[in-house]
Amino acid sequence: MNFEKLYQQNPDFPNRYISPEKLFSYLQTNLSNYIQEIGTSYLGKPVYQLTIGNGDIQVIAWSQMHGNESNATHAMLDLLNTLHKAPDVKDKLFSKITLDFIFMLNPDGSERWTRLNASDIDLNRDFHNEASKEIKLLKEAVKKKKYNYALNLHEQRTIFTTDGIHPATLSFLAPSENEERTITENRKKCMAVIASVYTKLKELIPNQIGRYSDEFYPASTGDNFIKAGMPTILFEGGHFIDDYTRAETRKYYTIALYYALKAMTELNSETEGWEAYLEIPENKETHYDIIYRNVKLNTDHECILDIAVQYRELKEEGREEISFIPFVMEVGDVKQRKGWKEIDCTGKRFICSTKYPKLDAEVNFIIED
Ligand SMILES: [Zn+2]
Repeated sequence: MNFEKLYQQNPDFPNRYISPEKLFSYLQTNLSNYIQEIGTSYLGKPVYQLTIGNGDIQVIAWSQMHGNESNATHAMLDLLNTLHKAPDVKDKLFSKITLDFIFMLNPDGSERWTRLNASDIDLNRDFHNEASKEIKLLKEAVKKKKYNYALNLHEQRTIFTTDGIHPATLSFLAPSENEERTITENRKKCMAVIASVYTKLKELIPNQIGRYSDEFYPASTGDNFIKAGMPTILFEGGHFIDDYTRAETRKYYTIALYYALKAMTELNSETEGWEAYLEIPENKETHYDIIYRNVKLNTDHECILDIAVQYRELKEEGREEISFIPFVMEVGDVKQRKGWKEIDCTGKRFICSTKYPKLDAEVNFIIED
């Protein structure tokens, strides 16, 4: 069965930005039998958990712990939309699995398209402090059952590649339980699921799947859940060439989500094949969005340099999609990095209101022939 051939995007959510209100109303209208409100955010927005399936394998997953990472919310909506049209595939999967999916754990950050919650807490570093209401909701939800697996669903920046050339469109991690990064039994369970997903996905997006750093983060969610005995897998949706709204990434994220669940039904907490995880290339930080090469500044002495630019994503008032604002990240010799777009400015004019491009500021120059 080729899930990738069945894949259909949920047409109600075409944009990268998902308005929480729109999501809530969709869930209430279309999935009311499956959802329950498990609590509210700092600003009083509801957090919904969807429960589907009646299998013995208990899985919990959560999306948008970081508000500006909508891929996993889309992936769940797309998975449900796709399976709705393939009832036999759906029944087979959910006869073996019970999935508790928490949509948009950080609805306040999702509304404003920020990583942090409304009181500026990074939920993924708040495991012990519990300074946020939202991390408590997640920890309470996790306590309700003995879960066989958890999926901690995120997105990563465009800076990552798998080999210095191809973008890390999807990256995975079986997080460490200690500083020594010991390969424990629970890590092997995660690795086996990831290895199975990798085997499928590498046919579809060769060289675009990476392994996230397994450095132990003492305050982060995945590391602590796995340390406490729940196998927890990290997903990171990343860049796909010329796809800043991540429509392609979203598709592969959905396919990966399906194959991860399917692998859980086949593995049933066994660790067969986990070694293949180690073949996945590690993420490398190699790219900027744009690099202007050989820019000749308007200085008295001759000054030729590179300017590296990265988009910042902003939710602007009145727009239903994210805006991408170019910011200057590095000026000088940027030869150790590449740009998804490389612009050779040799012989071209640099037109700018200041003599030098300003670091950490919005691009204020243009290049003219
Ligand atoms: Zn994240």
